[in-house]
Amino acid sequence: MAPGSPERLNFELPLDSQIPLAGQVPLDCQVLVVGAGPSGSRLAAALARAGLDVVLIDRLSDLRSAAFSSAALPMAAVRRFGLPERVVASLWSGWQLVGPDDRQRHWQADQHQGAVLDFGALRQWLAGEASCAGVRLLLGWRAQGCHSDGPSSLQTMLLGPGGQRRCLTSGWVVDASGESRSLLGKPPGNSLVSGVGVEWLLQVSDAQWHSWSDRLSFFLGSSWVQQGYGWIFPMAPGQLKLGVCRLLDPGRRQPALAAELQQLLARTELSGAEVLDRHGGRISSTINREEPHSRGRLLGLGDAVSTANLLGGEGIRHALSAAELLAPLLVEAVRLEAAGQGRRAARLLRRYPIQLRRALGWRWNLSGRLARRTWLSLADQRSDRRLQLLLKGLEQCRAEDLSALLFDYRFERYGFKALPYLLGWR
Ligand SMILES: Cc1cc2nc3c(=O)[nH]c(=O)nc-3n(C[C@H](O)[C@H](O)[C@H](O)COP(=O)(O)OP(=O)(O)OC[C@H]3O[C@@H](n4cnc5c(N)ncnc54)[C@H](O)[C@@H]3O)c2cc1C
Repeated sequence: MAPGSPERLNFELPLDSQIPLAGQVPLDCQVLVVGAGPSGSRLAAALARAGLDVVLIDRLSDLRSAAFSSAALPMAAVRRFGLPERVVASLWSGWQLVGPDDRQRHWQADQHQGAVLDFGALRQWLAGEASCAGVRLLLGWRAQGCHSDGPSSLQTMLLGPGGQRRCLTSGWVVDASGESRSLLGKPPGNSLVSGVGVEWLLQVSDAQWHSWSDRLSFFLGSSWVQQGYGWIFPMAPGQLKLGVCRLLDPGRRQPALAAELQQLLARTELSGAEVLDRHGGRISSTINREEPHSRGRLLGLGDAVSTANLLGGEGIRHALSAAELLAPLLVEAVRLEAAGQGRRAARLLRRYPIQLRRALGWRWNLSGRLARRTWLSLADQRSDRRLQLLLKGLEQCRAEDLSALLFDYRFERYGFKALPYLLGWR
């Protein structure tokens, strides 16, 4: 069987429950990674390449299913993470913003600005890479909880596809389970800002495809989606992703997303298109990211520690960067422990949240706050008027400036004058 072929992706491990011996706990693996999303698979591969014994599990039995993410990325991220052609569904070079007045504003660049990925194919490819690096991959298994099993190991309870229960012992566990934060749990207090999204994959005619290809289109204003936005992204030729999402506002009754999606379909004349897939999900972040990133030997990664950005509802590249940042720290911590320097290992890992905050940067933080303010306030005609002014201000920009704004969070590029509108000060 060829390394990394789909058959290799789903084998079962001998996971008999271990009974710890006094002072000596047999390890099933050095690191258990829970969640084969972008962050978990990338981390698992890097750890295995550094020589660690890694098990990667996911509750999905097929990583191509439940492909909830629209998966739009800037070109720089496609290059930086070495994403192969087979995970790229389409490339795009322009932006189109449709405001509350229904007017389409369009910015086109000469160069590709980014890609829309096939999220299922991305997950499959990343897990294949991990598997080739020596990671033992276990699909269809759900982690239900983990607890300390002495000073140097953890036990994680797993539920298998046929309802079987197993207990896996590892030196470390990484919670890369996305916004569900399955093992770390929700951050304390009410600090979590959450959004929900629904997306349909449509089969469309050539003429319809050409109207929306080569650009990312967003629909902004309370008449499109209250406290959120709608979008149409090009997938493979003849296919479009159409979706709506909004931030959750406990203080307000919000219309059903499904109704807003139907409205978007009707207003863009795509109601008759064949629906190939319906998916959706939740995206959440504490924005200031001050939540604990670990609990003893349990570490959080990716969306599980709020690396998703709510401005454009995107987090794949941040999840991948977080994995690349954590991998060398964890490898070094394991090495130090093996050399009897457990305290140094613990000190090293305390740097992880600080380094991650620094890597995401102040712009990431500011954009998260702008997102909360902007999306939550888009609920009435007053905010629509403010948005109209902002869109008018953007007309002088180039497509590249919009990319810099939405992906590099370079607000100053199109003038600080627009900031107060975004912040709701005017
Ligand atoms: C509607 C929507 C649209 C989006 N669009 C974009 C976009 O255009 N661009 C972009 O960059 N980002 C987008 N995102 C966000 C992006 O998909 C996430 O930020 C990214 O996938 C996070 O990666 P992750 O590895 O941290 O978590 P995830 O991708 O969520 O992976 C977590 C994995 O853990 C598994 N899992 C969960 N619980 C358990 C458990 N108990 N046991 C075992 N396995 C478990 C899940 O099955 C999943 O495979 C979107 C999100 C949503 C909801």
